Amino acid sequence: DPSVCAPLAVLGRDVTVPLVTGGEVTYAALDYAASAPALQRVWDDVAAYAPYYGSVHRGAGYLSQLSTDLFENSRTTVAEFLDCREDDQVVFTRSTTDSLNLLAAALPAGCEVFVFETEHHASLLPWRDARVTYLDAPRTPDEAVHTLERALADRDPYGPALVCVTGASNVTGELWPVRELAAAAHAHGARIVLDAAQLAPHHPVSVRELDVDWVAFSGHKLYAPFGSGVLAGRSDWLREAEPYLAGGGASRKVARRPKEAGGGVDVEWHDTAARHEAGSPNVIGVYSIAAACKALTEAGFDELVAREQYLIRKVREGLAEVPAVRVLSLFGDDAPRVGVISFVVDGWNSSHFAAALSAEYGIGVRDGLFCAHPLVRTLLGGETDEPGECGAPEAEPGEKSLNAIRVSFGAGTPDEHVERFVRAVK
Ligand code: PMP
Repeated sequence: DPSVCAPLAVLGRDVTVPLVTGGEVTYAALDYAASAPALQRVWDDVAAYAPYYGSVHRGAGYLSQLSTDLFENSRTTVAEFLDCREDDQVVFTRSTTDSLNLLAAALPAGCEVFVFETEHHASLLPWRDARVTYLDAPRTPDEAVHTLERALADRDPYGPALVCVTGASNVTGELWPVRELAAAAHAHGARIVLDAAQLAPHHPVSVRELDVDWVAFSGHKLYAPFGSGVLAGRSDWLREAEPYLAGGGASRKVARRPKEAGGGVDVEWHDTAARHEAGSPNVIGVYSIAAACKALTEAGFDELVAREQYLIRKVREGLAEVPAVRVLSLFGDDAPRVGVISFVVDGWNSSHFAAALSAEYGIGVRDGLFCAHPLVRTLLGGETDEPGECGAPEAEPGEKSLNAIRVSFGAGTPDEHVERFVRAVK
């Protein structure tokens, strides 16, 4: 019953789009994994706050103080949403990509990094300046844990190390065994950061329960599309690192150095989250993330998860009835998953297929390699250096596709959208 998720209603359900066949139809947004629509509740909260908007941390006026309070209280809301430990820090960033790059810039000297080659590029690429071990694609969650354990067993046990892992794949929707991977990391003296970009919108994330050291996620995938993200977790590496951005807000004190000492300036940086948040922050973006966290916490995830699992079944059963369709999966059909499903259609160029879903049915999906090129190529059985990002050549009937189609959904997705999608594919 979709009405049970009414507190999580989203914007855009009555937007109509033209069809090439003539007429128009309500838009079926089935690309939540790229960017989810705003929650009505987030929009309303932002609209209610907007007249009171003021600069944070800077002004003496009432609205500046009010905005500063709301901004700083947003950290507490996010920390509660993630069930953080008492001394964890919540740093506001632009996105998951930004959060992981921040952490990469804060790695202690000599830090080794372990990352599965199946990761989204945001988790795969920021560590290039460190010593990175790329782990082979596992075919079961257990194999993921064993692969990591084997790699960690060979590392220098006295040096710092970080494991980066995604909670839910943006390609297959499959859940990764985060708790077990965290236990393996810690057993070998390594730390772990969770890329929760796809997990947080679909599942409760508890830093304490999963025992991860950091979590990163993006507002725009969590129904708060105002350009902010989060890095939350242990404060020590962040406190000891150079500021991610140098500038106002990150510095506590800047003093002129005497001419006889060579001139220039001496800087004392903050050791709070502000250390990495130089410049005027995105107040509305931060406030909107807190609003989304509140809305999801209040509604609870139970109904949302149950409804999403029902929609997943509907889509998978529908696709299973089309012999030309192959659903992509790393861990197999029975793996627990969120509402993100990728597939290829025999003899079809995925980009043309996705374009047809839009033009003929008003359905918005995504096609391509989903910023996870190694993973998608593994799933398609392709070579590592095969071309096929955008504009992949048309696959001949019977030929393997060079990219895929992804359908994804969540709060506010009506039955009609996934039913129309299945009908269109058929
Ligand atoms: N990680 C995963 C698993 C993702 O799906 C995405 C977005 N597709 C990102 C990281 C990057 O998120 P953003 O583009 O908001 O930085």
